[in-house]
Amino acid sequence: MPIELPPCDHTPSPYSGPSKAELLERRKAVLNQGIFLLYKEPFMPVEGHMQYLWDETGRRYLDCFGGICTVSVGHCHPEVTAALSAQAQLIQHAPTCYLHPTVVEYAEKLAATFPDPLNRVYFVNSGSEANDLAILMARLHTGHHEILSLRNCYHGGNAVGMALTSHHTWKYAVPPMPGFQHLKAPHPVWGPIPYDAPDAGKQYAEEVADLIKFGTSGKVAAYIAEPIQGVGGAVPYPADYLTHAYAHVREAGGVCIADEVQTGFGRTGTNFWGFQNYEVIPDIVVMAKSIGNGFPLAAVVTTDEIASHMTGRIHFNTFGGDPLAMAQGMATLDIMLRDNTMALSKTIGDQLIAGLTLLKDKYPVIADVRGSGLILGVEFVQDGQPASAFTADFFERCKDHGLIVGKGGLHGSVIRLKPPMCLTPADADFLIEVFSEVLSELS
Ligand code: PMP
Repeated sequence: MPIELPPCDHTPSPYSGPSKAELLERRKAVLNQGIFLLYKEPFMPVEGHMQYLWDETGRRYLDCFGGICTVSVGHCHPEVTAALSAQAQLIQHAPTCYLHPTVVEYAEKLAATFPDPLNRVYFVNSGSEANDLAILMARLHTGHHEILSLRNCYHGGNAVGMALTSHHTWKYAVPPMPGFQHLKAPHPVWGPIPYDAPDAGKQYAEEVADLIKFGTSGKVAAYIAEPIQGVGGAVPYPADYLTHAYAHVREAGGVCIADEVQTGFGRTGTNFWGFQNYEVIPDIVVMAKSIGNGFPLAAVVTTDEIASHMTGRIHFNTFGGDPLAMAQGMATLDIMLRDNTMALSKTIGDQLIAGLTLLKDKYPVIADVRGSGLILGVEFVQDGQPASAFTADFFERCKDHGLIVGKGGLHGSVIRLKPPMCLTPADADFLIEVFSEVLSELS
């Protein structure tokens, strides 16, 4: 019996473009050969509406990956589309060397979501670029050079992003940039210290103090961490880990950077920013993906003091603060705040965690259900090893049942859930039903 998707009143337009087979050939011939396709039979979504996608045959899917954690308030949310179209009729490009109201209004609204003293906003076009800027700021501000990031992190694909990232699968064999080191990181399944051990966070953070002592001059520019590692497989840290890690870094003259590219904008359900779940305040915050609901938009938010060092030279970014991006970002943020998508993330996330935990009790292959709100991970382990082949099969079968999810972790053994923050309880029930069915098929 097919598992029924919840009803939806959107009718997709008929697709009349090139066939999947033709497109595959043409794509192979002309695009970057390094890009990958998820799924043995490639997935070709040609229309999206809120939490749903339609492929070229008109089949509907529930999207629980959001284009890799990017579609935040819903595919083609009508109000976001209207705001973008309205801006496109007026003026599409106006660089920050002219005055334009939207960039100021949006920066004010975005800054208002942060605790003091985080109040200076820089707009750029991607998460990688935002991290590059954050590292520059940290070095200018501190006068130090060394940057510490966590093993199993992902921070981007440009030179700085790749240097920060700690997954061999995303790093090319070119001479590494100097000044980047990777810390052993907490992990609830593979880490040496169980998360419920007393002082787990403090113990994991000892690694920060050690690396500073043994691997640097004793002074560092910055420490960067995702509040929940995204690409690494939805990995949160023990509650007080960041408090201790930040203290060690600040003692060594460094600043602390939170990469909120996946965790920001209320997705964790408990706070608007992921760092707030750990009761720390970073010095620099990086955001992308959800910020633009699919538009190439990213930002860095920092303090007046750190930002003041950027005045030493001209700083300019052609599309940073562009009216189109600002209109899309502002409409997205307005919807998040008005509809309280953070509270929705919490409610639906709790429903999913409850359903997934029941499945974990039934199927020992599920080693861990983790995360918070609508950034969740389900880790599969077989014979004490990451169950990569099982996860790949699970992932394929979800699609066969009309459910799009993500896959992550270095060994591809974690199913990642990062849907648009407009999932309904019926969608969550559908997801659990599909998971249950696929687990029974594979058992
Ligand atoms: N930081 C994190 C935490 C990310 O997940 C990503 C993208 N997966 C990036 C930075 C890089 O963002 P972008 O692909 O927009 O450059």
